[in-house]
Amino acid sequence: LSVTDDKDARIWERIKDHPCFSEQAHHYFARMHVAVAPACNIQCNYCNRKYDCTNESRPGVASVKLTPDQALRKVLAVASKVPELSVIGVAGPGDACYDWRKTAATFEGVAREIPDIKLCISTNGLALPDHVDELADMNVDHVTITINMVDPEVGAKIYPWILHGHRRYTGIEGARILHERQMLGLEMLTKRGILTKINSVMIPGVNDTHLVEVNRWIRDRGAFMHNVVPLISKPSHGTYYGLTGQRCPEPFELKALQDCIDGDVKLMRHCQQCRADAVGLLGNDREREFALDQISTKV
Ligand code: SF4
Ligand code: SF4
Repeated sequence: LSVTDDKDARIWERIKDHPCFSEQAHHYFARMHVAVAPACNIQCNYCNRKYDCTNESRPGVASVKLTPDQALRKVLAVASKVPELSVIGVAGPGDACYDWRKTAATFEGVAREIPDIKLCISTNGLALPDHVDELADMNVDHVTITINMVDPEVGAKIYPWILHGHRRYTGIEGARILHERQMLGLEMLTKRGILTKINSVMIPGVNDTHLVEVNRWIRDRGAFMHNVVPLISKPSHGTYYGLTGQRCPEPFELKALQDCIDGDVKLMRHCQQCRADAVGLLGNDREREFALDQISTKV
């Protein structure tokens, strides 16, 4: 084995059963999101939290929020019926790092009961630097950060406000803080060898061409994978998300951007924009089967 082959083999070992980080794995391995983190520290213009975080979710049906104890019960019920289950993730419906106590309590319980399962989070990155050491201590090996801009002027069009250090910041100032914290968090994860996936929401006329620059920044900071997802501006229930009248990109526009940034950072092309309480193989969700009222969640 050459040095490169050896490194590839080690990375393959870490992603081979993670359905989001490996395209092959998504046919055979399932992930489960536990919706334990409803609070969020930023406002994205495209977000309607009533219908889950668009970091990683399909809009349309509101999640049932779980306490960490309920989440653990649900994980154990699913694990006993879904042998393909390999990853437990916290992807909202708010922010896993901001609602940290619930995320950490959930992971502690899961790691105690099912020590060999992979733990994964999705975050907007603002509170990420405060928890990177704990994530490493808890063996969280996969982290997704949603990064939609590296230029605060673009960011100001996406984020009306952020909450940081008990203060609310708006406009360019808020977007600059978010950007700096996202880059710091990414660098800290890379330094600790934690694999990162960057999600970017493609918003036509706002950040579509700018995402080429985002790709350059995350590549330079060691991101493992880039996942550009289209803005979903009009969910099936007919409610606009928040960027008033903002259209979602056409499939050909998304593909053109993906082709343009396909390079050093692996591109994810099998994303299903799953819900904050998704259960099962990507694209074949079984959440209904494991709805809270169908399983005993008493501890
Ligand atoms: Fe996949 Fe994201 Fe869920 Fe992790 S948090 S299991 S990367 S969808
Ligand atoms: Fe909504 Fe997620 Fe943005 Fe928070 S980070 S406002 S939950 S899309």
